[in-house]
Amino acid sequence: MESVNEAVLELLESEIRNIPDFPKPGIDFKDITPLLKNPDTLELTSQMLARPFRHNSIDYVVGIESRGFLFGTNLAQDLHAGFIPVRKPGKLPSQTVSQTYALEYGEDKVEMHSDALPDGAKVIIHDDLIATGGSARAATQLVEKLGAQVVGYSFILELEALQGRDLLSPDAHYEVLISV
Ligand code: AMP
Repeated sequence: MESVNEAVLELLESEIRNIPDFPKPGIDFKDITPLLKNPDTLELTSQMLARPFRHNSIDYVVGIESRGFLFGTNLAQDLHAGFIPVRKPGKLPSQTVSQTYALEYGEDKVEMHSDALPDGAKVIIHDDLIATGGSARAATQLVEKLGAQVVGYSFILELEALQGRDLLSPDAHYEVLISV
C-alpha cells in the first residue's frame, strides 16, 4: 500500500511544473495546471487530499483565492462538507470580515463573508501551496473571528524551507501531499 501511495505521489509531482522567475525574478513558481489537465492526476489529487480527513466529520472546507478553489470544492464534496471562499478585498458581495497579513514587502488582506461559518463549525483550510504560511494564517484568523474551529490544513505542496507550518494552529492536522 505504501509503495502504491509513493507511486501516486511521484506521478502527481511529475505533473507539477516549475516556472523560474515567475511572477518576478527569483521566484520558482509551482504550476499545477498540468496536474489539472491530466484526468488521472486530477482524480488522484482529489482522492489523496480527502483521504486523511474522511473520518473527521468536517463541516466546511475554506479555500484560499484563487488556486485553493480548484481542488477545494472537490475536497468539500468528497467530505460531504460545504465550501467557503476566502477572497481578495472587494470581491465578496455581502458583508465581510477581513484580515491583513504581512508580505515580504508590505501587506495584503483577505476577506470572508461574515455569515459564512456558524459558531463551533469544524473547518479545514485548503490551498494549492503553503510558502511562508501568511495567507493560511490569515484564513485561520478569519475562521476564528467567526467562532469556528480550524481542525485541519490541506495543501498539495509545501515549500518546506520556508517553515510556513510554524505559523499555523499547532493542534490542527497538517496534511501536505508533496514537500519540496
Ligand atoms: P504564503 O502565504 O507565503 O504561504 O503563500 C501561499 C500562497 O501564495 C498560495 O496561495 C500559493 O498559491 C502562492 N504561492 C506562493 N509561493 C508560490 C510558488 N513558489 N509557486 C506557486 N504559488 C505560490
